[in-house]
Amino acid sequence: QKPLLSVRNLRVWYPIRKGGMFSGPPVNLTAVDDISFDLYPGETLGIVGESGCGKSTLARAIMQMMGNVSGQVMWLGKDLGKLHGSALRAERKTFQMIFQDPLAALNPRMTVAQIISEPLRFHFPELSKAEITERTQRMMGKVGLRAEMINRYPHQFSGGQCQRIGIARALILEPQLIICDEPVSALDVSIQAQVLNLLKDLQEETGVALIFIAHDLSVIRHISDRIMVLYLGNVMEQAESAALCDTPCHPYTQALISAVPIADPDMSQKTGYARIGDGDLPSPLAPPPGCVFHTRCPRAQVHCSVEKPPLSTGDQNRRIACHFPDTAQSASHVRT
Ligand code: SF4
Ligand code: MG
Repeated sequence: QKPLLSVRNLRVWYPIRKGGMFSGPPVNLTAVDDISFDLYPGETLGIVGESGCGKSTLARAIMQMMGNVSGQVMWLGKDLGKLHGSALRAERKTFQMIFQDPLAALNPRMTVAQIISEPLRFHFPELSKAEITERTQRMMGKVGLRAEMINRYPHQFSGGQCQRIGIARALILEPQLIICDEPVSALDVSIQAQVLNLLKDLQEETGVALIFIAHDLSVIRHISDRIMVLYLGNVMEQAESAALCDTPCHPYTQALISAVPIADPDMSQKTGYARIGDGDLPSPLAPPPGCVFHTRCPRAQVHCSVEKPPLSTGDQNRRIACHFPDTAQSASHVRT
């Protein structure tokens, strides 16, 4: 099976002028630092990390919404960075994005019908009005919105309903991939599970692949096949979802699991891991030398501040960037 999406050595930076307009050349803030991964049809890749770790920038770079990018985003074998205009628009039909703040992502002056059908009208101007209405209503039904809501405006909906509208809009072109950037973090906890279950059901029905971004591991644990952990724009660890959560080998993954609220019973037994050291997330303008996590890592040794650990592949396709990974973790869980 060929990957849907192949990201290779993706780097994204923001040129920043330090100290005002006349103070010399810009410095580059590296938001995504040499990330590579494949995504297969129908699969869900979870991406987790603290805010500022580069998750949203990575998503936007894949969507071709960012400048200052190097590396490759291969979509169905085509290098998206080399496509422009109508050629890029033609590919853009097949992957969509949903955003963190559902209300802000919807145009307040458009009705639900107009919002959901907009991609359809844009990409298929030849469709009849009746056909568009029919497809829009069908899509509303699929995401659990009642047909009589069709002429209402976004402000007349709850946050959870707005996210359903966003999902309907993303799905109406029958894409092969939806990138979900923290789609439930702005919602009440009681609504989060409903939206997650809806996405899971729609995925089963349509076979769409998902990239699911979250800052909380407990949100993506059950929806993801694989999970990638980011810190300051770098991949720390990647593994199958259960392996990553049950036998995390990277000190940062372990710290993230320790930080999961006790409310998630599946993960609460795991609080024995060392937590992140005190101190803030370092500025991405001046990332620590060596391992970017060393200033907060409970296992750090002198060597860690000197040499950056490579991202190496271990058992069962686990990838890990650490000089001193807790591999006893996974070894002790291997059943014979
Ligand atoms: Fe911690 Fe060193 Fe591993 Fe980085 S390389 S995560 S500092 S033990
Ligand atoms: Mg974000």
